[in-house]
Amino acid sequence: MYCIVLCCVVLCCVVLCCIVLCCVFEMFHAPAVILATMSFGLLVHSWTEESYTLNSLFNPVETSFGKLGITPSGKPDEHPCFRGFDSAVAADGVCKGFSRAYANDGSPVLFNAGSGRPNYKNFSFAQEVGVFNLYVETAMESPPDAMDKLVEMVTIADNLNGEDRFTPKKPYFGNSSSASWLEELCLTVGPMPFWRSCGNRITVLLAECGFVNAFVSTNPSFFFPANNESPAAHDLIFVMCVELLMSTDKTIEAHALTVIHELTHVIQWTPSIPYSIYEGVPPSLNPPC
Ligand SMILES: [Zn+2]
Repeated sequence: MYCIVLCCVVLCCVVLCCIVLCCVFEMFHAPAVILATMSFGLLVHSWTEESYTLNSLFNPVETSFGKLGITPSGKPDEHPCFRGFDSAVAADGVCKGFSRAYANDGSPVLFNAGSGRPNYKNFSFAQEVGVFNLYVETAMESPPDAMDKLVEMVTIADNLNGEDRFTPKKPYFGNSSSASWLEELCLTVGPMPFWRSCGNRITVLLAECGFVNAFVSTNPSFFFPANNESPAAHDLIFVMCVELLMSTDKTIEAHALTVIHELTHVIQWTPSIPYSIYEGVPPSLNPPC
């Protein structure tokens, strides 16, 4: 009897989720079948990953840590976005001893650079900057100063030069001890989901998109912790379109805030809600400029 009631409740939830999501996404003309899958995915996801998704809406910071057995090391050099990473990749951790290695040897790497639907392209490793790995679409002819702008963008986002003007300050930010907008993001909204990537780098893909934007694009298997068979696309990734990077009506600070915006999506990315929990910059990150 209990099972029947439970099944009815689950069915009702799925239908309700479908209706709500259909209404929400009507404006984007997303196919109903995708929405139904997303709704069901949300439901399953919220159970299987210990309600991370739902809780994260209300209590985002470290919601999952206890359940996932993640313990921040407390060491001062542990980046706030990857606090607890060592415990996640330990032999008895959620990644079961797997830790993603980044070859960075110049050979092309296949990543998903699709917006909305998968579009796998080759990328070449360009540079390591702080916690970022920067890649450029292999077939693209980059504008001369594109790489400089890309480096400056992530340097400002994590304030790698320790400039006072890029240090979060009250009343604009919630945590005055943060050294950068990126740290502030991870301390207020939540750490990067490294318990799925099992890696402690953020990948930025500079791609020729054919439109002006930046977006999160990853692998559908991101639902699960990575293992040694996971593709490169199963990672913490966002795509920066070269068309946006090179547009003249945006300052480099605006691009740095785009990094923060996209990484908010990465933090809240689930297979069921890939893009749309947050839009805009998180409330605690209202930029002072
Ligand atoms: Zn967005």
